[in-house]
Amino acid sequence: MISEFHMNYSIYLIKGICFKKYIAADIISINQVCNSNLYNLFVSYSTLTVLVNGLACKDPTLVKANDFFFRGLHLEGNTSNPVGSKVAPVTVSQLPGLNTLGISLARIDFAPWGTNPPHTHPRATEILTVIEGTLEVGFVTSNPGNRHVTKVLQKGDVFVFPVGLVHYQRNVGYGNAVAIAALSSQNPGVITIANAVFGATPDIASDVLAKAFQVDKDVVADLKSKF
Ligand code: MN
Repeated sequence: MISEFHMNYSIYLIKGICFKKYIAADIISINQVCNSNLYNLFVSYSTLTVLVNGLACKDPTLVKANDFFFRGLHLEGNTSNPVGSKVAPVTVSQLPGLNTLGISLARIDFAPWGTNPPHTHPRATEILTVIEGTLEVGFVTSNPGNRHVTKVLQKGDVFVFPVGLVHYQRNVGYGNAVAIAALSSQNPGVITIANAVFGATPDIASDVLAKAFQVDKDVVADLKSKF
């Protein structure tokens, strides 16, 4: 059961905080909610129907070991898709005990020349290590510089992608590659640039995209057809 305090506070969050600074509210407001308990256990309460900015907390007296447990990152991801990579996330959605803790994990599998396409995490810095294979990685700084910071990583190498910046990885080795990434949010979010721009629903007007990308509208139409 959700306590009356939690319900009241959730409503306050919706009215008072959600439409302000989203990134700060995501961390601070939920800690305020969850620190109201005595046990410092912030396991997410998945059946909550009231919307909050983040996930509400399970009654700490009902928390089980399995709330802090996830099994499956040893499993190879299926990379048979157009980009040749597969991400297996372990965020608060898969592991409720991560709620409010500001950390999560992912396994990324790559087929030869597979790419984890340019994307950004609005709420997290990402630190990645190569478990198997060779990866080209990179991120791009914000305007006006748009500096591309890139490196080829071997097994055991570590690289960091600062919060919010567009970044990617590509397998440039001879076989499959595997990476493990840690992210500084229980709910990092992912915006894949191509999907967001060319796969939006409803779609962004083609003349907007034709001007933005400085291409003809038929090029935009072709891109839209793939997302
Ligand atoms: Mn990433």
